[in-house]
Amino acid sequence: FSTESAEDLKRLIREIPDFPKPGIIFYDITTLLKHPEGLRRTVDGLAAQLQGIKVDTVVGIEARGFIFAPALAYHLGAGFVPVRKPRKLPAERASITYELEYGQDTLEIHRDAIGDGHRVIIADDLLATGGTAKAVVDLVESLGGKVVGLVFVIELEFLNGRRRLEGYDVRSLIKYQ
Ligand code: AMP
Repeated sequence: FSTESAEDLKRLIREIPDFPKPGIIFYDITTLLKHPEGLRRTVDGLAAQLQGIKVDTVVGIEARGFIFAPALAYHLGAGFVPVRKPRKLPAERASITYELEYGQDTLEIHRDAIGDGHRVIIADDLLATGGTAKAVVDLVESLGGKVVGLVFVIELEFLNGRRRLEGYDVRSLIKYQ
Protein backbone atom coordinates (compact mmCIF):
# COMPACT_ATOMS: atom_id res chain seq x y z
CA PHE A 1 0.00 0.00 0.00
CA SER A 2 1.70 3.20 -1.13
CA THR A 3 2.32 6.20 1.12
CA GLU A 4 0.42 8.23 -1.44
CA SER A 5 -2.67 6.01 -1.17
CA ALA A 6 -2.45 6.13 2.62
CA GLU A 7 -2.30 9.94 2.52
CA ASP A 8 -5.33 10.05 0.21
CA LEU A 9 -7.33 7.91 2.62
CA LYS A 10 -6.10 9.88 5.63
CA ARG A 11 -7.68 12.97 4.16
CA LEU A 12 -11.04 11.17 4.23
CA ILE A 13 -10.82 10.31 7.93
CA ARG A 14 -12.33 12.87 10.28
CA GLU A 15 -10.48 13.56 13.51
CA ILE A 16 -12.66 14.47 16.48
CA PRO A 17 -10.75 15.80 19.47
CA ASP A 18 -11.93 14.94 23.00
CA PHE A 19 -14.31 12.15 21.94
CA PRO A 20 -15.51 10.06 23.72
CA LYS A 21 -13.51 11.69 26.52
CA PRO A 22 -11.01 14.53 27.01
CA GLY A 23 -7.55 13.90 25.56
CA ILE A 24 -8.63 11.25 23.02
CA ILE A 25 -8.64 11.96 19.30
CA PHE A 26 -11.37 9.83 17.74
CA TYR A 27 -10.65 8.69 14.20
CA ASP A 28 -14.06 8.79 12.54
CA ILE A 29 -14.20 6.53 9.49
CA THR A 30 -17.78 7.37 8.51
CA THR A 31 -16.42 10.11 6.26
CA LEU A 32 -14.22 7.52 4.54
CA LEU A 33 -17.05 5.01 4.22
CA LYS A 34 -19.45 7.40 2.51
CA HIS A 35 -16.86 8.19 -0.15
CA PRO A 36 -17.26 5.61 -2.98
CA GLU A 37 -13.62 5.66 -4.06
CA GLY A 38 -12.41 5.81 -0.46
CA LEU A 39 -14.42 2.74 0.48
CA ARG A 40 -13.27 0.80 -2.55
CA ARG A 41 -9.62 1.65 -2.04
CA THR A 42 -9.81 0.74 1.62
CA VAL A 43 -11.34 -2.70 1.05
CA ASP A 44 -9.05 -3.40 -1.93
CA GLY A 45 -6.09 -2.21 0.14
CA LEU A 46 -6.95 -4.57 3.00
CA ALA A 47 -7.32 -7.49 0.59
CA ALA A 48 -4.00 -6.64 -1.08
CA GLN A 49 -2.26 -6.88 2.32
CA LEU A 50 -3.26 -10.54 2.44
CA GLN A 51 -2.22 -11.55 -1.04
CA GLY A 52 -0.84 -15.05 -1.14
CA ILE A 53 -2.12 -15.98 2.32
CA LYS A 54 -4.62 -18.84 2.38
CA VAL A 55 -7.60 -17.82 4.49
CA ASP A 56 -10.66 -19.81 5.60
CA THR A 57 -12.30 -17.25 7.85
CA VAL A 58 -12.22 -13.51 8.45
CA VAL A 59 -13.20 -12.63 12.02
CA GLY A 60 -14.63 -9.14 12.52
CA ILE A 61 -14.82 -7.38 15.89
CA GLU A 62 -18.03 -5.59 16.89
CA ALA A 63 -18.85 -2.92 15.91
CA ARG A 64 -16.67 -1.27 13.29
CA GLY A 65 -14.91 -4.49 12.36
CA PHE A 66 -18.31 -5.60 11.02
CA ILE A 67 -18.02 -2.99 8.31
CA PHE A 68 -14.77 -4.25 6.84
CA ALA A 69 -14.50 -7.95 7.68
CA PRO A 70 -17.40 -9.20 5.53
CA ALA A 71 -16.26 -7.17 2.53
CA LEU A 72 -12.78 -8.56 2.98
CA ALA A 73 -14.06 -12.13 3.37
CA TYR A 74 -16.11 -11.78 0.18
CA HIS A 75 -13.04 -10.46 -1.61
CA LEU A 76 -10.86 -13.37 -0.41
CA GLY A 77 -13.46 -16.08 -0.94
CA ALA A 78 -13.45 -16.77 2.80
CA GLY A 79 -16.25 -16.93 5.39
CA PHE A 80 -17.10 -14.22 7.92
CA VAL A 81 -17.41 -14.78 11.68
CA PRO A 82 -18.53 -12.08 14.14
CA VAL A 83 -16.98 -11.53 17.56
CA ARG A 84 -19.62 -9.77 19.62
CA LYS A 85 -20.28 -7.94 22.84
CA PRO A 86 -21.82 -10.11 25.59
CA ARG A 87 -25.34 -11.59 25.35
CA LYS A 88 -25.76 -11.00 21.62
CA LEU A 89 -24.88 -14.40 20.18
CA PRO A 90 -27.66 -17.00 20.51
CA ALA A 91 -25.82 -20.33 20.35
CA GLU A 92 -23.10 -21.84 22.52
CA ARG A 93 -20.38 -19.26 23.12
CA ALA A 94 -16.78 -18.92 24.16
CA SER A 95 -16.06 -15.71 26.12
CA ILE A 96 -13.02 -13.73 27.04
CA THR A 97 -12.72 -10.89 29.53
CA TYR A 98 -9.78 -8.54 29.18
CA GLU A 99 -8.43 -5.43 30.87
CA LEU A 100 -8.98 -1.95 29.48
CA GLU A 101 -7.29 1.25 30.58
CA TYR A 102 -10.19 1.70 32.99
CA GLY A 103 -12.07 -1.48 33.78
CA GLN A 104 -12.76 -4.60 31.73
CA ASP A 105 -14.56 -5.74 28.64
CA THR A 106 -15.89 -9.08 27.41
CA LEU A 107 -16.15 -10.46 23.89
CA GLU A 108 -17.84 -13.63 22.65
CA ILE A 109 -17.74 -15.97 19.67
CA HIS A 110 -19.87 -18.98 18.73
CA ARG A 111 -18.03 -22.16 19.68
CA ASP A 112 -18.80 -23.80 16.35
CA ALA A 113 -17.73 -20.74 14.31
CA ILE A 114 -14.14 -21.89 13.89
CA GLY A 115 -12.92 -25.41 13.34
CA ASP A 116 -9.65 -27.00 14.34
CA GLY A 117 -6.80 -25.72 12.17
CA HIS A 118 -8.92 -23.12 10.36
CA ARG A 119 -6.82 -20.30 8.99
CA VAL A 120 -8.14 -17.06 10.43
CA ILE A 121 -7.64 -13.38 9.70
CA ILE A 122 -8.78 -10.89 12.35
CA ALA A 123 -9.99 -7.54 11.04
CA ASP A 124 -10.89 -4.28 12.76
CA ASP A 125 -11.04 -0.61 11.92
CA LEU A 126 -8.28 0.52 14.26
CA LEU A 127 -5.36 -0.85 16.28
CA ALA A 128 -4.79 1.21 19.44
CA THR A 129 -3.28 -0.56 22.48
CA GLY A 130 -3.88 -3.99 20.94
CA GLY A 131 -5.84 -5.23 23.96
CA THR A 132 -8.96 -5.96 21.94
CA ALA A 133 -7.10 -7.68 19.11
CA LYS A 134 -5.08 -9.83 21.54
CA ALA A 135 -8.28 -10.94 23.29
CA VAL A 136 -9.71 -12.02 19.92
CA VAL A 137 -6.49 -13.89 19.07
CA ASP A 138 -6.89 -15.81 22.34
CA LEU A 139 -10.56 -16.56 21.60
CA VAL A 140 -9.79 -17.87 18.12
CA GLU A 141 -6.90 -20.01 19.37
CA SER A 142 -9.03 -21.41 22.20
CA LEU A 143 -11.26 -22.88 19.47
CA GLY A 144 -8.30 -24.39 17.62
CA GLY A 145 -8.06 -21.71 14.94
CA LYS A 146 -4.73 -20.57 13.54
CA VAL A 147 -4.36 -16.78 13.34
CA VAL A 148 -2.55 -16.20 10.05
CA GLY A 149 -2.77 -12.42 10.25
CA LEU A 150 -4.45 -9.31 11.62
CA VAL A 151 -5.47 -6.34 9.46
CA PHE A 152 -6.50 -2.85 10.42
CA VAL A 153 -7.48 0.20 8.43
CA ILE A 154 -5.76 2.48 10.97
CA GLU A 155 -2.82 1.88 13.32
CA LEU A 156 -1.97 4.30 16.14
CA GLU A 157 1.74 3.53 16.18
CA PHE A 158 2.43 5.64 19.28
CA LEU A 159 0.36 3.19 21.38
CA ASN A 160 2.53 0.30 20.23
CA GLY A 161 -0.31 -2.21 19.92
CA ARG A 162 2.01 -4.44 17.87
CA ARG A 163 3.99 -5.23 20.99
CA ARG A 164 0.96 -7.09 22.33
CA LEU A 165 0.73 -9.03 19.07
CA GLU A 166 4.33 -10.14 18.78
CA GLY A 167 4.80 -13.22 16.62
CA TYR A 168 1.71 -12.44 14.52
CA ASP A 169 1.55 -10.92 11.07
CA VAL A 170 0.04 -7.45 11.66
CA ARG A 171 -0.85 -5.21 8.70
CA SER A 172 -2.39 -1.75 8.54
CA LEU A 173 -3.12 0.74 5.78
CA ILE A 174 -2.93 4.10 7.51
CA LYS A 175 -0.52 4.90 10.31
CA TYR A 176 -0.51 7.76 12.81
CA GLN A 177 2.72 8.52 14.66
P1 AMP B 1 -7.40 -1.26 21.61
O1 AMP B 1 -7.96 -2.47 22.29
O2 AMP B 1 -6.83 -0.27 22.57
O3 AMP B 1 -6.42 -1.62 20.50
O4 AMP B 1 -8.64 -0.50 20.95
C1 AMP B 1 -9.13 -0.90 19.73
C2 AMP B 1 -10.62 -0.70 19.61
O5 AMP B 1 -11.08 0.54 20.15
C3 AMP B 1 -10.99 -0.72 18.15
O6 AMP B 1 -12.11 -1.58 18.00
C4 AMP B 1 -11.32 0.72 17.80
O7 AMP B 1 -12.50 0.78 17.06
C5 AMP B 1 -11.50 1.43 19.13
N1 AMP B 1 -10.66 2.66 19.27
C6 AMP B 1 -9.63 2.82 20.15
N2 AMP B 1 -9.09 4.04 20.07
C7 AMP B 1 -9.77 4.69 19.09
C8 AMP B 1 -9.67 6.02 18.50
N3 AMP B 1 -8.76 6.91 18.92
N4 AMP B 1 -10.53 6.33 17.50
C9 AMP B 1 -11.46 5.44 17.08
N5 AMP B 1 -11.60 4.19 17.59
C10 AMP B 1 -10.79 3.81 18.59
